[in-house]
Amino acid sequence: MGYKIPQLEPYIGKEELKNLKKVIDEKWITEGVFSKEFLEIIKEFTEAKHVVLANNGTLALFLGLLSLGIGKGDEVIVPDFTFNASASSVAFAGAKPVFVDIDEGNLNIDVEKIEDVITEKTKAIMPVHIYGQSADMDPIIKLAKRYNLRVIEDAAETYGVFYKGKHTGTIGDVGIISFFADKTITCGEGAVILTNDYELYDKLRYLRNQGRSDSGSFIHPQLGMNFRMTDLQCAVGVAQLKKFKEIEKKKIEGYRLYQLLLKELGGVSFIEEVDYSNFIPFRVPIRVKNCDELIQYLEDSGIQTRGFFYPLHRQPCFNYLGYEKNDFPVTNKIYSEGLCLPVFPGLKKEQIEYVCEKIKEFYNVEEKK
Ligand SMILES: *Cc1c(COP(=O)(O)O)cnc(C)c1O
Repeated sequence: MGYKIPQLEPYIGKEELKNLKKVIDEKWITEGVFSKEFLEIIKEFTEAKHVVLANNGTLALFLGLLSLGIGKGDEVIVPDFTFNASASSVAFAGAKPVFVDIDEGNLNIDVEKIEDVITEKTKAIMPVHIYGQSADMDPIIKLAKRYNLRVIEDAAETYGVFYKGKHTGTIGDVGIISFFADKTITCGEGAVILTNDYELYDKLRYLRNQGRSDSGSFIHPQLGMNFRMTDLQCAVGVAQLKKFKEIEKKKIEGYRLYQLLLKELGGVSFIEEVDYSNFIPFRVPIRVKNCDELIQYLEDSGIQTRGFFYPLHRQPCFNYLGYEKNDFPVTNKIYSEGLCLPVFPGLKKEQIEYVCEKIKEFYNVEEKK
């Protein structure tokens, strides 16, 4: 509110409104025609064998963990640098999240460090595809096979991102994609769970819909909960999916313009781009000198910034896990140096130029101090 340049703005308009009007006119607002179409488009695009809806990414992770039978006494390996929900979903499933440091270049889980934390209790690895690039999945799948672990992918931020030709979220046993307002495709709130395993799909179907395969019946063969979406959200989602190519293109163009305009600034660096994944920037994560002061300077100039994710091992809510502050040197370091600049499809060239000018101005002033 009140920012000249906000951190994000969903790319919604006429098409979404037109679909919403259809839902209202038809008076069928729970999962229906648009939900079906939404799932079909995602299924075709991701080539996942099975896709189900969930209310949001956090609950989709929780549901995915339940479908894998993960619970009390189990451990799940999670990167130390991700949104809190990756780990809180593990805790809510009754299991213990176990953190691993990340690669300093691309900010995804450091695959070299996973094996060190595997114990008798480890049941699954949760790679998180962070900031718009895939984690390195081959070594993760290999470890999972060797130790008989499941893989649940948090692809909340990576709709449209492929690892060696496979869509993120379709490589492990289950994967989730979020449609929160700041993700590439949004429904306001919403998510999908992807799997190629029919047995897991069958469990997910019952778990998400009160333990029955169809709505309208009051006989519940299993225990389940309500993880459903609405046709209102999916109507927005269908319009969004039809604009995906445009959204992708605009996000990438914005990101490249930042790179161009900031390239001669020594104090600013971008994340490393890997060759096994395409990149659809979730935000513009940069590492800088005098991070806190720069954030303040940009905020004072009407530019909404975001810090990096707070290392999970330092989260007050995970104090009970007993980690020490210095346990993960890479996440600690990048947290103190990182901030995210805005990139969204409606962001104009002049706005990006303004942000970059302000950054240059900040460093000019700093140099003269
Ligand atoms: C957004 C996000 C989530 C949670 O998704 P919601 O739909 O907001 O619940 C989980 N993990 C990561 C990495 C995210 O970015």
